[in-house]
Amino acid sequence: MTAPLPLLVWFRQDLRIGDNPALTAALARAKADGHPVIALYCLDETKTSSRAFSGAARWWLHHSLSRLAEALAAYAIPLILRRGAAETLLPALMAETGARHLYWNRQYEAAAIARDTALKSALTAQGVSVESSNSLLLVEPWEVKTGQGKPFQVFTAFWRVARPLAAARPPLPTPAPLRLPAPPAVHSEALETWDLRPTAPDWAGGMRETWTPGSAGAFARLEGFLEARLSAYADARDRPDTSGTSALSPHLRFGEISPRQIWAALDQACHGQMSERGPETFARELGWREFSYHLLYQYPEIPQRPLRSQYENFPWQPNAPALHAWQRGQTGYPIIDAGMRQLWHTGWMHNRVRMLVGSFLVKHLLQPWQAGEAWFWDTLVDADPASNPASWQWVAGCGADAAPYFRIFNPVLQGEKFDPDGAYVRRWVPELQHLPNAFIHKPWDAPPLVLRSAQLLLGQTYPRPIVDLSFGRDRALAALKSLSHSQPESL
Ligand SMILES: Cc1cc2nc3c(=O)[nH]c(=O)nc-3n(C[C@H](O)[C@H](O)[C@H](O)COP(=O)(O)OP(=O)(O)OC[C@H]3O[C@@H](n4cnc5c(N)ncnc54)[C@H](O)[C@@H]3O)c2cc1C
Repeated sequence: MTAPLPLLVWFRQDLRIGDNPALTAALARAKADGHPVIALYCLDETKTSSRAFSGAARWWLHHSLSRLAEALAAYAIPLILRRGAAETLLPALMAETGARHLYWNRQYEAAAIARDTALKSALTAQGVSVESSNSLLLVEPWEVKTGQGKPFQVFTAFWRVARPLAAARPPLPTPAPLRLPAPPAVHSEALETWDLRPTAPDWAGGMRETWTPGSAGAFARLEGFLEARLSAYADARDRPDTSGTSALSPHLRFGEISPRQIWAALDQACHGQMSERGPETFARELGWREFSYHLLYQYPEIPQRPLRSQYENFPWQPNAPALHAWQRGQTGYPIIDAGMRQLWHTGWMHNRVRMLVGSFLVKHLLQPWQAGEAWFWDTLVDADPASNPASWQWVAGCGADAAPYFRIFNPVLQGEKFDPDGAYVRRWVPELQHLPNAFIHKPWDAPPLVLRSAQLLLGQTYPRPIVDLSFGRDRALAALKSLSHSQPESL
């Protein structure tokens, strides 16, 4: 009797075992019919399908794949690593192993959808069965529609429809480890040869200190957050000087934990009282992630083009030195510089500060939002194909439910409001640490004596502001005015 052919599970944005519908479906069949199972991860750097990982996210991917391989070993499932375009690799691997069944969880970028659709029809024509599932979202982007059957562009209205659907979807249980028959020996590239981690210079030290990639790290974060911070979340979430948020974003981005697992844990932690302020606010933030994917699915060009077409003609003033100063945290505005340095060091930035640095870049510095989005894509460990462009468009006033362009955050007032004692600034901009609170967000106002006793030489140890706030604000408003005269808006 010939051994049953292996089943193939293709891992993508779902690097976990629990609540993984593709894996669960494969394991159910394997158990019933005695098939071995093979797992595949392909690193597609051709940029033809989903957006290629950049710097910080590559570091995360390395560790996440290591953890996944360890977890799969408990099921006797080898994780095969291959580099190249999935369109070519998958049919080749299926032919090589004789696999006739393929399982994956869906992605929502236009290029990924096109790739998956083409693969599915090519493989189905060869008699292969392909099963795709949802593991990334609480609600499929096409399930949520306005009364007229259209996509939503306003978050509150979107969430009113999506939230009850989200609440009705419990996660799948984590499958019990089982011993499957050994699959045929299949060549896997060695993870080390993918060079996902930096070598010289090694800029990942701060990320190693901050994060534990993998599902175990995700659940440790979740439990710590639910126990210690959930009840205060609604207020503390806006304070970058405290650890008031969950820091689950990179784990969610790589699918090491699913939003359904988080939702279920949240529901349990608050004993079903989801309407209390903390849980409801947190659930709503998960809703913003859903909304971003809804937008990406419905408006596939949002990573490149403004949703509000009128903004195609926005008179940006690209300026390399200004962009560079922003990227390096050398703008002379402490809260902005603190955020950009937190990002560089840890691969993450607090949400309130993301809004401030974004506003400063596109408004005070008049740089195109795409330049900020690209820098975030390169430096964030949670760089997400939906949330990053959708949030940048929100900040720039050209996206869905966007903050209007004329609402311009003042980095001094925002710093004083959300980092009142300057603890966040002192943590990330140590050259300012001896400044008294009164000047921590505006060192240029400090009298010479104060500067001297704080050992601060403006223009030498810390930059003077690279743009005057009122000048930047007026210039941004003038740019907006010129736009409103140019052409009518079409959404
Ligand atoms: C300019 C800009 C760029 C951003 N880029 C990204 C990105 O690339 N990846 C990313 O995951 N988030 C992005 N965000 C959204 C948000 O800043 C982060 O999700 C959040 O800071 C992550 O921290 P947390 O996990 O502690 O969030 P929590 O407050 O604990 O929220 C829980 C989860 O909800 C989701 N979430 C929270 N706020 C938002 C939001 N505004 N939009 C979408 N999802 C949200 C995240 O998955 C987050 O992990 C961006 C925001 C801005 C303003």
